[in-house]
Amino acid sequence: MKLSKVNLHLISSPLKKPFETSLEVVRNREAIIVETIDQDGNCGYGEVVAFSSPWYTEETIKTCLHMLKDFLIPAIKSKPISHPSQLESIFVKFRGNRMAKAGLEGALWDLYAKQRNIPLYELFGGSRKSVQAGVVIASKSVTDAMFSIEEYEKEGYQRYKIKISPESDLSFLKEIRQNYPHIPLMADANSAYSLKDLQHLKKLDEFNLMMIEQPLGHDDIVEHSELQQSLMTPICLDESITSYHAAKSALALKSCQIINIKMSRVGGWMEAVKIHNLCVKNNIPVWCGGMIEFGISRAHNLALATLPGFTIPGDLSSSSRFWEWDIIEPEIQVKNGQIIVPHKPGIGFEVNRKHLIKLLVHKESIVLDR
Ligand SMILES: [Mg+2]
Repeated sequence: MKLSKVNLHLISSPLKKPFETSLEVVRNREAIIVETIDQDGNCGYGEVVAFSSPWYTEETIKTCLHMLKDFLIPAIKSKPISHPSQLESIFVKFRGNRMAKAGLEGALWDLYAKQRNIPLYELFGGSRKSVQAGVVIASKSVTDAMFSIEEYEKEGYQRYKIKISPESDLSFLKEIRQNYPHIPLMADANSAYSLKDLQHLKKLDEFNLMMIEQPLGHDDIVEHSELQQSLMTPICLDESITSYHAAKSALALKSCQIINIKMSRVGGWMEAVKIHNLCVKNNIPVWCGGMIEFGISRAHNLALATLPGFTIPGDLSSSSRFWEWDIIEPEIQVKNGQIIVPHKPGIGFEVNRKHLIKLLVHKESIVLDR
């Protein structure tokens, strides 16, 4: 791929409003924008979406910076690559750290597609010209949540996801369903329950939810299987699906009826597509999960969601959902519940350098050509 340099841009931005889950309130977002540059000056971009603290996965922005600088980038420096799929065998000696790997892998796929002057999604057999948009509402106040639904309805979102916890789930869902009986609604628990809550969880069946996401342990597969047998509402797994093997186990044990694929959680494009293909083969619908991300990760997700198995609207929202302004241009926009997929090389969006510099906290440049 004739790589010459990798830039790591550590950026930070406040969210327009706090994102409240059962585990953490996110007010400010850090990310690492990975920029890979070849000898002809082509640039590819990836985004590391680990959070600043390890509440969602064990990785943080700091651990990812360490992994990239001290292991992952030196590994591609010592073993030049001709195709991004080679990363799988190069990274195999580094356990876990999937979000750090996904950031670098994404940047190389974007660069590879740009070198060939084709849209990235075409490399993976994606074909949708537009994808269905869904939005996450993460507020502990039901009044605030309903105000958000009212606002997002104007953009025509095709799926609404709310964050729930055992303390307030029933009253929260009741109020939303009374006011919005027909919206496509799902609930994400981020592992807030245990099997002891079985009788309580059964009460969620009355709200006609599209699915309940990750009700039990973040690394559990067996207990979700037990729970699914007792619930009418489909279970969707998120945190538990860290790899193709985890997905295979979940399908074998019938732990879920739907899978949320986040390419950053599983280590990048290659693993995400493997999980997608497995789910298609087993008639398990998938959707693309979000990580409160900036435009680079959002553009990669948009490309991923063009694959045929992504039949449920994902966490794919407008740039304006979280940001006053995004680091890509044009910004991602939802119109009539759809996002148009740009037919342009790579991820299909340009980086807004002015905005990137405004958010920049720290930058590292690593020279690769010798
Ligand atoms: Mg989730």
